[in-house]
Amino acid sequence: MTLRVLVVEDDREIRCLMQSSLSVEGFDVQTAVSVSEARALLQNTPPDVMLLDLGLPDGDGIELVHEVRKHYSLPILVVSARHQEAQKIQLLDAGADDYLTKPFSVAELLARIRVALRHRGTTLDAAIKVHELDDLRVDLILHQVQCRGEALHLTPTEFKLLARLVRSAGRVVTHRQLLVDVWGPEFTEHTHYLRLYMAQLRAKIENDPAEPRHLLTETGIGYRLAAL
Ligand code: CA
Repeated sequence: MTLRVLVVEDDREIRCLMQSSLSVEGFDVQTAVSVSEARALLQNTPPDVMLLDLGLPDGDGIELVHEVRKHYSLPILVVSARHQEAQKIQLLDAGADDYLTKPFSVAELLARIRVALRHRGTTLDAAIKVHELDDLRVDLILHQVQCRGEALHLTPTEFKLLARLVRSAGRVVTHRQLLVDVWGPEFTEHTHYLRLYMAQLRAKIENDPAEPRHLLTETGIGYRLAAL
């Protein structure tokens, strides 16, 4: 089955690079240079995954995220420049799946698309049951965590936080999403909880907590559990 990708990007160079590299990989690529063009293409044949630039000539990518999320569950990857951090958080909280910062490599783009597609059509709770990468194994059903072959003991909150990241393995989860899902909607300002529990988790899981390989920091945005 050929997977359809919609690339929404007004920068000609980046658009052409994405189009050619994704076509080579066997994707059926459609491109749009504006919000209105993307809207028309979405109504016609909804793609399997959408790559979305933030600043578009006739509007902002966030409008499309809200619209798409009303009707479809397709993964949305935000592609943006580093200085658009605040906007990235807004988009992720609005339902975008992940983001890529320009400039990015084609390998990185393909890896992110693979992760996004793996999560496609799955709700948070139904998604991944077991996460395995290198020396870490997390079983969400049995509530078991193994590291370097040994069973780890996690506190209930540590497990809840790790489980939330496992359900989005490979994708960034914003501070706000983590605080809401692990502690509750009234805790969105308590980012110090996150820092504390993430440090505890890293101390238990990472070989070198100062150079984490599983629990990655996305500066200013959130955390990502490595999946590749
Ligand atoms: Ca742009």
